[in-house]
Amino acid sequence: MIGIVGGGIAGLSAAYRLQQHGYEARVFEANDDLGGLAAVYETAGDPIEKFYHHLSKSEETIVELAEELGLGEAIEWRIGKNAYYIDDEVHPMDKPWEILSFPHWSIYDKFRLGMLTLDIDVRGGVPKFDTYEQLDDFEDVPVEQFAREHTTQNVYETFFEPLLDAKFGDRKQDVSAAWLLGRIKFRGERDLLKGEVLGYLDGGFGRLLDALVEAVGRENIETGTRVTGIDSKDRQVTKLKAQNETGELTYDVDNVIIAAMPNVLEELTGYTCDIDFQGTVCSVISIQNRLMDTYWLNIADEAPFGALIEHTNFVPPDRYGGEHLLYVARYIQSPEEDVWQQTDDEIRETWFSGIESLFPSFDRSRVNWVQTARNPRTAPVYERGYLDMVIPYDLSDQIANGIYYAGMASRAQYPERSLNGGVEAGFNSAHMVMMERK
Ligand SMILES: Cc1cc2nc3c(=O)[nH]c(=O)nc-3n(C[C@H](O)[C@H](O)[C@H](O)COP(=O)(O)OP(=O)(O)OC[C@H]3O[C@@H](n4cnc5c(N)ncnc54)[C@H](O)[C@@H]3O)c2cc1C
Repeated sequence: MIGIVGGGIAGLSAAYRLQQHGYEARVFEANDDLGGLAAVYETAGDPIEKFYHHLSKSEETIVELAEELGLGEAIEWRIGKNAYYIDDEVHPMDKPWEILSFPHWSIYDKFRLGMLTLDIDVRGGVPKFDTYEQLDDFEDVPVEQFAREHTTQNVYETFFEPLLDAKFGDRKQDVSAAWLLGRIKFRGERDLLKGEVLGYLDGGFGRLLDALVEAVGRENIETGTRVTGIDSKDRQVTKLKAQNETGELTYDVDNVIIAAMPNVLEELTGYTCDIDFQGTVCSVISIQNRLMDTYWLNIADEAPFGALIEHTNFVPPDRYGGEHLLYVARYIQSPEEDVWQQTDDEIRETWFSGIESLFPSFDRSRVNWVQTARNPRTAPVYERGYLDMVIPYDLSDQIANGIYYAGMASRAQYPERSLNGGVEAGFNSAHMVMMERK
């Protein structure tokens, strides 16, 4: 039997692939619910992810998986409008003329940023088209130095720096330029006249998880069951130990795939992972009316959150029984941070006063409900030298034969962690198990 630790998208994808090829796989999930970071809340209509989710056009494996599971038609490509809040004003940032009229940049600033996003290096006056081809070349370059050199000081200070502050806080100095370049390439497709094309699954990504669960077989998934140990003999994995409400359980296993955060791998095997993770506090606020015109609002002005994401400006509110759904999110670098320490009621107050100061028309009395999720490990800090710290899928050399890893510290989750990366990590680890057992 192949034991899979974690019932998020990576673990379920691994189990699906293995069973499809005739292997017996069993998923163990510590929580009562499946889905991990892609778990959902109920609304008056379709469920909504606890943390905002969309797909980029460059992500293909998850689309193929949806097609295999009969959900291909349910993938929708929609325009997700972006805007930037700076000096008390919202500036739409999608269409060429919106960017050209952005008052905080000179024509030269816009030219330099435009060239970078088109992968053209204009330093030195002669355009070069291959500078950005190899991300690895920028792995050791600090993102700040890179952004200043490859755009302008002003673009860095008015744009990249506030975004890096929101995403990485005081860890921004450590982040590599390869991450930024990877993000620019990763974003995928833009409609020049409308904006960025992003994907969503009609009914929410929970439908994909449900389809995976059905394909794997609910009887092959144990929820409320935490894996507590992995035994090996003569460097070959032999047993998986788990705990549920009935007590301790032991299973004979030939292979184990750990599809969870690296700390779980560390606890179960003693492996040391040097990647640092950041946490997130993220609320969904259901409102009776729309707050803004945009899907994704980055914020340069002082605010207690890093971004406001109005989901129902991307997917229409009638899908949610007319509720307007706003994500308010902040990345957390340390458990000492005030927002991390706050109760749900205090967070609600913090968000409301922050929204009021940006949007004075925001009316608290029109809020239906607020739900808050917090998780101490939601994204790696993509610091310099990151790729050297990635955990290999096959851990036979490092731990014992038969142990594999498919969690967020795997290669498929670079340069940005995603559902697609989770599916790929699950598939890659399953493929390696199958190669071993052939
Ligand atoms: C704020 C935020 C925004 C995001 N935005 C997007 C986006 O726009 N688009 C996108 O594609 N992706 C996005 N993601 C990323 C996406 O959610 C993740 O990459 C993906 O869900 C990771 O799946 P996973 O299976 O690797 O890990 P997880 O979802 O973390 O699943 C791991 C599971 O393992 C379980 N577990 C842990 N320890 C044990 C144990 N000892 N025994 C048994 N079970 C255990 C956990 O309970 C968990 O359910 C976002 C994530 C966050 C947090």
